Amino acid sequence: MTINKKIFLLFTCLFMLLLTLIFFILKDRESNALTFENNLVQNRVISLHKMLNIKNLLLNNISYEYSKSEKIIDILTKKETYYDFHEIASNLDISYFIVLDKNKNIKYSEVFDTSSKEYMDITSSIKYFFDDANLDKYVNMKDKIKFTTFEYEKLIFSIEKVEGLGYIFVAKALNSSFLSELSSALDVYVSLLPSYTLNDNYKTVNDFDYDINREELESLYINVKVNDYFDDSFYLFLKMKREIFNEIKQSNRLLLELFFVSFLLFIFIIFVFINKIFTSRIEKISKTVKAVSQKKDLVQNIELIYDDEITYLTKKMNEMFKTIHNSQTETIKKERDFLQSVLDSQQHIIFITDGSEIHSANKKFLELFQNSNSFMNNIAILDNKTKLNLLKIAQKHSSIDKPAKFTVNNSEEKYFVFDISRVELRKYIVCMNDVSNYNKKIKELENKASIDELTSCYNKSSITNYCKYWLDIKEFGLIIVDIDKFKNVNDTYGHFIGDCILKDVASLLKAHLQSDDLIGRFGGEEFIIAVNTSVENLSKIANRLRSMIEQKNFNYEKLNLRITASFGCTYCTKGKSFEEYFKIADEALYLAKNSGRNKVMKK
Ligand code: GH3
Ligand code: MG
Ligand code: MG
Repeated sequence: MTINKKIFLLFTCLFMLLLTLIFFILKDRESNALTFENNLVQNRVISLHKMLNIKNLLLNNISYEYSKSEKIIDILTKKETYYDFHEIASNLDISYFIVLDKNKNIKYSEVFDTSSKEYMDITSSIKYFFDDANLDKYVNMKDKIKFTTFEYEKLIFSIEKVEGLGYIFVAKALNSSFLSELSSALDVYVSLLPSYTLNDNYKTVNDFDYDINREELESLYINVKVNDYFDDSFYLFLKMKREIFNEIKQSNRLLLELFFVSFLLFIFIIFVFINKIFTSRIEKISKTVKAVSQKKDLVQNIELIYDDEITYLTKKMNEMFKTIHNSQTETIKKERDFLQSVLDSQQHIIFITDGSEIHSANKKFLELFQNSNSFMNNIAILDNKTKLNLLKIAQKHSSIDKPAKFTVNNSEEKYFVFDISRVELRKYIVCMNDVSNYNKKIKELENKASIDELTSCYNKSSITNYCKYWLDIKEFGLIIVDIDKFKNVNDTYGHFIGDCILKDVASLLKAHLQSDDLIGRFGGEEFIIAVNTSVENLSKIANRLRSMIEQKNFNYEKLNLRITASFGCTYCTKGKSFEEYFKIADEALYLAKNSGRNKVMKK
């Protein structure tokens, strides 16, 4: 694993650890906020209880006071009808003031709507309520807040007994004005809920059961269960702002964001720092070592940046590379010099190549070619395809039968055969053997075999082969020349003179032929000529040659001789074999001889 990867892993682990830590801290803060919020809610419920209790105490007092009031007793006993309760009710902020006799018959009633400040009529349902209720039981419940429902109106009430006479019932409606009074006193919005089911996590404080609904982020809802002693129960619904919780939540998010940003910044700074002073330098060193181990180049100078242990190590490595490089260079140089001296001591031309370029060569090579360019030019001429691999050409000319012809020192022709051996995967050592002398001898022998010794023309077999070859590739004129009455020349002047005439006739014929025409001695005093000409010109050429011989003075010491020759011609196209054409020309010659000699006959 690279150092970078390791550092990355380390930071990732550190990040995960810190993130977990931060997560737990923030979670703890959030749960503390919830606990705080719960306490706040509990205090609100206690305050609510207190507020209601104060109202209850007030009602109890009013009830009690009036139960002792003589005026009330008068009303109950003497059925005195006049009494001004209107003022009393409005001043006391009560909703119901009802006087009952001991049989629970309503003796006097005032129903006052405290929000509209209006007096209301008593309804028959209130009368039914008093008929059914066990009022004595509530008279004794002094310290409890008592609630009831009249005509959907929720009330706190108090009831007091008037000894021997009846009851005083005082109630306060939990109407909108009272609820807003509660709201402003508790600093929360308070409203009534006729029915609700508390959730399982409800709590109880004083006499109230309540639960908390936290579905919304901005506010929470407290549902307080209130027991309606005559009926069932109803609920007071409190809406409270979650300012603290939101504050904490927001600050948590801010903290988390701050953590992320600062951690990233921290990582970036640390990473840059570590990378600059540590990782990148180590990486450079390891890359250099790798390059050296792959033999790319031993002279590797690693940059020295700071004055620390890594720089010290780098310095030492640079020194080490330098020392190794120097000693290697010296050894290599010695080996190279030795090899060069071995190569130079060789009689043959030796060079090292990869097939397209000459890497090094011995002294002999340079003596002959001066530089590799002139050698490569020769190679290009040899093959006519400069792109062809040098090794392929060398391979082609590796046998003594096929030596490669080189032009050295501008004009001198030399012949070489190659010997190739592989020294490395793409390096070959090529030895060039100079076979010029051998080749010259071979050529001479070859010439001897194909040239007639006396006349220096081609001999019978050579001229036959050339004519056969020409027949394959083109059309040409075939002429057979036979010296007339040559036997007589021999007989008269001797064989030596005969030979001289043969030699001179050949020279004369050669001199008057084109350089690309062929002449050969077919036997005795008979020559064959292959001429590059048209069918029309053939006889003309033969006649010209005939008259050349006729007019020539053959001078040998005091002898001055003249001879003639007869010519048989034919024109060769591709239709027949050489033997057939020869026969035709020979027949023409026969005709020339028979028609008096010194003639040209064409067939
Ligand atoms: P024709 O006009 O019919 O050709 O008469 P000819 O005498 O030339 O014909 P023939 O074939 O009878 O004689 C050829 C002579 O050429 C015979 C021989 O003495 C001579 N001869 C052949 N080869 C050589 C040679 O190498 N040197 C010399 N000096 N004479 C040769
Ligand atoms: Mg003859
Ligand atoms: Mg003859």
